[in-house]
Amino acid sequence: MRGIPPRVRVGIVGGGASGTLVAIRLLRDTSHPIDLTVFEPRERLGEGIAYSTDDPHHLLNVPARGMSAFVEDPDDFRRWAGAEAPAFVPRARYADYLRSLLGEAVAAAPVGSVCTHVRERITDLGYAPSPWVVTEQGHSWTLDHLVLATGNGSPAVPEPLLAAGLPASRIVPDPWRAGALDVIAEGDRLLLVGSGLTAVDVAVGLAARVRGVRFEMLSRRGLVPASHDDPWQPGSETPGWDTAATSPRDVLRYLRASGEGWRQALDGLRPMTAELWQAWDDRTKEAFQRHLMRYWDVHRHRMAPSVAVAFDRLVRAGYVRRHTASLEFANDAAAGIRVRLGRRSRGRWAPADGHRGDRDQRRRPRCPGRGRPMVRGNQVRRLRMHECDHVSSRRGAGLRSRLARQVRHAIGPVQPRGQHAVAGLAA
Ligand SMILES: Cc1cc2nc3c(=O)[nH]c(=O)nc-3n(C[C@H](O)[C@H](O)[C@H](O)COP(=O)(O)OP(=O)(O)OC[C@H]3O[C@@H](n4cnc5c(N)ncnc54)[C@H](O)[C@@H]3O)c2cc1C
Repeated sequence: MRGIPPRVRVGIVGGGASGTLVAIRLLRDTSHPIDLTVFEPRERLGEGIAYSTDDPHHLLNVPARGMSAFVEDPDDFRRWAGAEAPAFVPRARYADYLRSLLGEAVAAAPVGSVCTHVRERITDLGYAPSPWVVTEQGHSWTLDHLVLATGNGSPAVPEPLLAAGLPASRIVPDPWRAGALDVIAEGDRLLLVGSGLTAVDVAVGLAARVRGVRFEMLSRRGLVPASHDDPWQPGSETPGWDTAATSPRDVLRYLRASGEGWRQALDGLRPMTAELWQAWDDRTKEAFQRHLMRYWDVHRHRMAPSVAVAFDRLVRAGYVRRHTASLEFANDAAAGIRVRLGRRSRGRWAPADGHRGDRDQRRRPRCPGRGRPMVRGNQVRRLRMHECDHVSSRRGAGLRSRLARQVRHAIGPVQPRGQHAVAGLAA
């Protein structure tokens, strides 16, 4: 058919926020028809892990003004949500926003463009002679470009809990799975493993809808996320930031020097964090992950002020007790789950004789923390990647690619100041 340019076939593996944002961007920016296939087992696009919750107590941890899908129009989400700039909107609204943008982008794309949601998980992919994927169900696709947007995935259940062989009714490995917390009943006592944003969300959300639930919040460092300023202040322009100084130590020094204004200074660094990370060598990255990551997380990924207030109330009223300790041992006893805590334990749970630390718990959701701000490789490792000598997954630190420049070029205008890091690769 002369005159009609061939449709470019693009596959996106993962239809969470990142995959959906890539789809929106491609549909909006293309001047040729595009045949887009998003491989996402979840029913709805745009949700992924972060935005699948329908609990209105689970708020975005970034104010409305910071959540636009478009770097060139930072107010887009705020306008769409009809919110004030500093408002912290329920996370479910963000998935609605992304889906509405996707619908608009499909409608406005060049004639002949399609966007298909295939509800299948990709198990294998390769790049020769052109990109291809195979799903769990054995269906295969050949494409012109492939984008990986598989996210961080769910962390593993800690070894002591696995070793305990707890019945499935006693443990919630993924609190974000739809209905996962419906097993919690009035008056239950829960062990929350982790004290990050996920643990806080679980406690605040459950306390609001199930009476008398008590939480023992356990984490090795005992850190909980800081709160945003109330009222929220926008990030600063990074005065005094020396662009030549980029080591973790330089970042720390800069933040310390900003004193009371550390939140604004940290938020001001947001557009540069991907570049900073990429500039570090493997040893620096590993050292950062081992020693600083948790501190970075609790300062960088903060609670909405109203969530901080609700959480603080629970702590003050004794519904949440915080413990700084590792989980050493667990077993299933008639009265509940018994746990023994290890080093760094303080307070009444300290297991001086190996028994004093035992506590009965009836059910225990695992709250692994909100995850790391950098792309991790665990989802990608679950994919079998063939003919990919130019792409490899790095333990705990995302992907290594010898094609970085071509990758960016191939998937079009990647926004270095964009809201979301996209694990986007194209051949
Ligand atoms: C609880 C929580 C709250 C957060 N709140 C905020 C916030 O308020 N603001 C903010 O900016 N960021 C927030 N984040 C960070 C958040 O992770 C990112 O903003 C963004 O949602 C990440 O999206 P993603 O698409 O990269 O990953 P994910 O959300 O993990 O989505 C990845 C998708 O890929 C799919 N997938 C994985 N493997 C395959 C495969 N092999 N085949 C097919 N599909 C696959 C999965 O099913 C999943 O839907 C939050 C994160 C969490 C966990």
